[in-house]
Amino acid sequence: MVTKIKGFYMVVTRFAPSPTGYLHIGGLRTALFSYLWAKKNGGKFVLRIEDTDKARNSQEATQAILKAFEWLGLEADGEITYQSKRDDIYAKYIKQLLDEGKAYKCYMSKEELTELRETQMANNERTKYNGKYRDFEGTPPEGVEPVIRIKAPLSGEILVHDGVKGDISFQAEDILDDFVIARADGSPTYNFVVAIDDYLMGINEVIRGDDHLSNTPKQIVVYEALGFKIPKFYHVPMIHNSKGKKLSKRDGATDVMAYKEMGYTPQALLNFLVRLGWSHGDQEIFSMDEMKELFDPKDINKSASIYNTEKLDWLNAHYIKKSSNDELVELLTQYGVMIGSHDKKEILLDELKERAKTLKELASLVDEILLTPTSYDEKAVKKAFKGDAIAILNNFGAKLSSADELHIPSDYHHIMEEVVNEMEIGFGKIGQPLRVALLGKMSGPGLDSVMAILGKEETMLRIANAITTNS
Ligand code: GLU
Repeated sequence: MVTKIKGFYMVVTRFAPSPTGYLHIGGLRTALFSYLWAKKNGGKFVLRIEDTDKARNSQEATQAILKAFEWLGLEADGEITYQSKRDDIYAKYIKQLLDEGKAYKCYMSKEELTELRETQMANNERTKYNGKYRDFEGTPPEGVEPVIRIKAPLSGEILVHDGVKGDISFQAEDILDDFVIARADGSPTYNFVVAIDDYLMGINEVIRGDDHLSNTPKQIVVYEALGFKIPKFYHVPMIHNSKGKKLSKRDGATDVMAYKEMGYTPQALLNFLVRLGWSHGDQEIFSMDEMKELFDPKDINKSASIYNTEKLDWLNAHYIKKSSNDELVELLTQYGVMIGSHDKKEILLDELKERAKTLKELASLVDEILLTPTSYDEKAVKKAFKGDAIAILNNFGAKLSSADELHIPSDYHHIMEEVVNEMEIGFGKIGQPLRVALLGKMSGPGLDSVMAILGKEETMLRIANAITTNS
């Protein structure tokens, strides 16, 4: 195949989602691992949409997967392959196997199959097809559309060389039977098409969840029947929640795009995912370039990884802090906050990006400053608006009004200092009521910065409003 040209080996990996729902965090992790491994090796990462199950697949789910890839900047190489468009290819290989006597038509009716299964269960036996039509030579029963079954080995060992788990030996009699490769309506089955496509697409390194490990021997049967070279497999252990259970929706196994809505940055999410089940010493922060340089599936952990929201928040806070203000302006637009033309956006973001764990939080911190308060926290008012508070605010307001050239935080600080000195009061005496006047509550970023961001007019307006409302 295309992967080996005159001794040149190019790593080709793939992500092969079934579009039955949204792209979730576990799927994204294997996609990321596959992407990184291809990129590290100067190879290719391809995307194959496994949309053969017409009843369960949807266009929206495919679009959701593509949208998530776009958001995260994971770009697949070449055209996207859709299994639904490859029936002719699969039919050709089914015919080949039939012609070569490696597959056969099975006329067992549904009722007969159910009966067989029930008998096996009653006898505590593994349920499997009994090979009735494997070497059938008589006249097939009428009225039954046959399925096509592959002749799987009846005994012996199927060895899976796994790059994560080592060699895994399966006994044919324990796990195999002549499984169906084409249904009665001619449609090919999952394990059959995966093996064919991986081969035809030149995929030589398959990284996927270890929930697929039990499919691998079946796929190996297909590879061998068709004389295809078997790819290298890496089966990645699952992601668990803190209780050691498989990750559920509640724990974060939701649509990847929900992470965008919650305010996570692509870098944080990817960095978080790369560390779920893979490590490089004790390094926690990885830029995309570092991931591409350092990722190696041989370092994938052998045991399940634990999903930890605090870690994701910590990484997200790190990436928000590290982002340039221009990047943040752009990112915030996705959360309805438009500050691209705000003249004090630099001060605003410098002040706030240290405080937010998510972009959504950052967006609401921005709003808390930029939107004039419409109400005041009762407790804060009670605490701050006592004694000379109104007089102090009035004095401060008057000084602001006559000052010009107020630009940076320290310009406002000097006026506060004048008031403090003149009235012989502590900073708290002006700070508290001023904070409530400007922000409606007692908490928030440095007042000097808040005022510099708001500008003189808005600051004076908020002070006047607060005096009117609270005196
Ligand atoms: N389509 C399968 C899934 O979405 C993955 C197949 C594979 O990776 O081999 O679970």
